[in-house]
Amino acid sequence: MSKGSVNSTLLNTLRFKRRIALKVYSITFINRSFLKHLIIPVISVCNYVILRKMGNCFVEMEISSICNSRCIFCPYVDITKTDKKIQTMSSEIYDKVLEKLHQVNYKIISFTPTTGDTLVNQNWDHYIQKSLSLQSIEYVLLYTNGILMNETNIEKLIVLLKTDKKKKIFSLLFSLGGFDEKTYLFMFGVDKFNQVIENIKHLLTRLQQEKLDLLIHLEFRIPFEYQVNVPSIKKGLNPTNYPFLGTRILREFLGIEGLKRYDEVCYRDDLQDKPNACSYLRKTRFAADGGIWADGCVVSELPNESTLKLGTVNDSWMDIEVKRKQIIDAWNIKKEIPMPCQKCTMYRCDAVTLKNDPTNPIWKELY
Ligand code: SF4
Repeated sequence: MSKGSVNSTLLNTLRFKRRIALKVYSITFINRSFLKHLIIPVISVCNYVILRKMGNCFVEMEISSICNSRCIFCPYVDITKTDKKIQTMSSEIYDKVLEKLHQVNYKIISFTPTTGDTLVNQNWDHYIQKSLSLQSIEYVLLYTNGILMNETNIEKLIVLLKTDKKKKIFSLLFSLGGFDEKTYLFMFGVDKFNQVIENIKHLLTRLQQEKLDLLIHLEFRIPFEYQVNVPSIKKGLNPTNYPFLGTRILREFLGIEGLKRYDEVCYRDDLQDKPNACSYLRKTRFAADGGIWADGCVVSELPNESTLKLGTVNDSWMDIEVKRKQIIDAWNIKKEIPMPCQKCTMYRCDAVTLKNDPTNPIWKELY
C-alpha cells in the first residue's frame, strides 16, 4: 500500500471521527457536563492531525490584497510601490471565482491572501458563506492578523458558525508577532499588539459562551532568540478556558528575494537541489484583482513579477491548466525553474503525478 493511500485512509478516519465527536459535543447535556472532557481531547487530536495533513493542493482565496500590517517578512510594502492595484475583491469577481470552483474538485479553501488581510474586505463573511455552498468543499480556513477581529466581526463569525450546519469552517488562524508590544511592533511594523490581544480574548470568551467548537490557532512569528512561555500566553489570552485553542511558534522565515534581512531573524537556508516541479504549483490562488495564480504563498508573487500567473477569471479553466502544465513541464523537462521558485525555501517535491490527482479533472486530459 502506498504512503499516499495510508495517509488518505488515516485522514478519512479522522474526519469521520471528528464529525461524530463534534455532533456529540453539540449536545447541550454533554457540553455542559463533565462528559465534555472525554470528547474535547478527541476533537483536539483530530484537529491537530487534519490541520497538519491538509497537504499542498488547495485554494488560496485572496479577498483583499490590502493589508493593515507592515510585517518585516513580507514583500507587501515593496508591492505597494509597484503599479499593482491593491484592492478588495469585488462581488462580481468573486461570483466568477465560484463559477470556476464548480468546475474543479478542490476540497479546501483557505481564505489567505498572499499579501493583505481578509478582514479588510468588509464582506468577508458573505464571501465565506457563499463558499460553503460549494459541493466539493469540505473545509474552509481563515487567516488574519486579528487587528480587525473587533466586536462586529466576532459577531459576524458567530453567525457564520451557527449557520454552518455541515461544519465546513475548520479553523481561524491568527498570525501574531511576539507576546509583547515591542516585539510585535518590530515583527509586524504597526503598534497594534494590545488591540489584537483584546480581540482574541474577546473572541475566545464569546466562542466559549456560545459553546462553539471552531479551532483557533495562534501562530507566533518571532525573532530567533525570543523566549515564549506558551502555557502562560494561553492562560492570559483565554480567561474562560475555551478548549479548542492551538499554538505554533515560527522562528524561521523564508529568505525572500529582494526583501531586507534582519540580524534578529533567522532565515531558512537556500535549497540547492530542486529536481522536479514544486508540488505547491498544484495550489491555485484567486487574487483580489481577478488574477489566477499557481501556488499562493507569500513568495509566489514578488514585486513586478508574474511568472506564476496562470490567467484571470475570464479565461477558461482549460487555458489555466495548459499554462500550469507549461510551467511544470518547463521545470521537469528543461530544468527551467520559475523565478520566484529559484530561491524559495518552501520548495516541496513529493512527486505527485497530476494524472492521478482527483483535484482537477482537466489534468487527466492534459497528462
Ligand atoms: S518553490 Fe516556493 S514559490 Fe515556487 S511553488 Fe514552491 S512554494 Fe511556491
